[in-house]
Amino acid sequence: MIELQHLEKRYGDTWAVRDLSLVFPEGELTALLGPSGCGKTTTLRMINRLTEPSGGRVLLGGRDTRDFRPEDLRRGIGYVIQQIGLFPHLTVAQNVATVPDLLGWDRRRTARRVDELLALVGLDPPVYRAKRPGELSGGQAQRVGVARALAADPPVLLMDEPFGALDPLARDRLQEAFRGIQQRLRKTVVLVTHDIDEALRLGDRVALMRGGTLAQFGTPDDLIHRP
Ligand code: ADP
Ligand code: ADP
Repeated sequence: MIELQHLEKRYGDTWAVRDLSLVFPEGELTALLGPSGCGKTTTLRMINRLTEPSGGRVLLGGRDTRDFRPEDLRRGIGYVIQQIGLFPHLTVAQNVATVPDLLGWDRRRTARRVDELLALVGLDPPVYRAKRPGELSGGQAQRVGVARALAADPPVLLMDEPFGALDPLARDRLQEAFRGIQQRLRKTVVLVTHDIDEALRLGDRVALMRGGTLAQFGTPDDLIHRP
């Protein structure tokens, strides 16, 4: 479970996020929805402390994230962004193995895990293992990004517009694939999106932000039926 308590971020005179209190339930996907500039990305980056809050707290499993070592935050929180930033000179397998390599896993364990993850995201391991990012379509590259984020089996996954740069067909297919993955893995996921259809389709809950703060929180049904 992730809990935000009176979380704030200020840039000069601008409040990017203001007095935001919110619980992301364990094992559920919460869509963080709202128009551009409402504070979604800033909120997400304060959860893994890529952005340092100006005030308030983030609790992970009841523990203040300030008390985590940076490497434990990195291992415990997967992170997927729009332009996934695969290392172009590394193979697909080496990209997926980034975190296991940092953690010093032995080669056999890493290789097994890489194949398991490639299969999970719908990329046939023998075909894709040795490819370079330059040989992949946008949708395939995002799949590798999802596999990489899941490599060390983090309980929490943060996703910032992960389908945003894809053409509509690739987006649909990856959304469907991800829905299947989430039904199996039951991670605590926060998905940033400005796309209401995506939020309603993928979210167990939807947190609607406006002007740096929470406007509504509920299930997709709550949001559709409550004006
Ligand atoms: P969203 O993800 O909803 O588009 P952001 O969290 O990126 O919103 O931004 C929220 C507000 O904070 C915006 O007004 C944005 O311009 C501002 N902001 C975000 N990051 C910075 C930064 N590094 N420096 C200054 N202002 C920022
Ligand atoms: P998004 O794709 O979520 O809309 P942005 O384009 O708002 O992202 O932000 C991209 C990067 O620029 C982020 O690192 C953000 O923190 C930073 N940023 C956003 N707004 C500002 C701003 N007004 N001043 C400085 N940096 C900003």
